[in-house]
Amino acid sequence: MRVNIKENIEDVERRIAAAAERSGRSRSDITLVAVTKTHGPELMNEAIKLGVTDIGENRPQEIRDKFESVLPVRWHLIGQLQTNKIKYIIDKVCLIHSVDSIHLMDEINKHAAKHGIVMDILIEVNISGEATKSGISPDELDSLLTHAGELSSIRVKGLMTVAPKIDENITNALHFNNMHDLFIDIGNKKYDNVSMEYLSMGMSGDFETAIECGSNMVRVGSAIFGKRGYDL
Ligand SMILES: *Cc1c(COP(=O)(O)O)cnc(C)c1O
Repeated sequence: MRVNIKENIEDVERRIAAAAERSGRSRSDITLVAVTKTHGPELMNEAIKLGVTDIGENRPQEIRDKFESVLPVRWHLIGQLQTNKIKYIIDKVCLIHSVDSIHLMDEINKHAAKHGIVMDILIEVNISGEATKSGISPDELDSLLTHAGELSSIRVKGLMTVAPKIDENITNALHFNNMHDLFIDIGNKKYDNVSMEYLSMGMSGDFETAIECGSNMVRVGSAIFGKRGYDL
């Protein structure tokens, strides 16, 4: 059965607006990153024509391979980045959500400098402490953020997290609230080259909860494009 992405986008838009309102904000305060991993340029272009402005991919190779076939849009890298893949995306993405080491920060900085650009990044935090999750633990944040002050071709723009999978009995509100606390604390500390503009959290199953807890950037895939044939 073909997925009706027009209806899905309208539904997600309504739900974002309602959740924003419940947290005292409006739709325009929240960025929707439509996650298109595994989907082809045709479906992506359909979404862009329906108003999607930001696309998220979790594999650098997919960005490289699809880039030329997709209409102008803001690309986000949301998945793990190995340093040998930075070259595929450095001149294509507007934001890298998944920076989780000083080494990766340094390498992105080097590639950005070579291209004469400043790359915006988010630091990925493993807020739940689940062993399977990528991201740094909250107590490593200070050293990464301090290090960012020494780099001139990246800018830290906020934090990102991937919360645990949920079922009917639990929500991720606790993790999202903890992330929001970190986001506020860091903003108050005023690190050089660090501004807390984006808090990237919330996926298809929990984006409304995330927004209610202070997220201003949600990464939504299957609620728009349907179930993926396989997961990455
Ligand atoms: C796939 C993915 C998403 C979107 O997941 P859905 O549950 O399909 O909305 C969001 N963030 C990351 C990092 C992902 O890899």
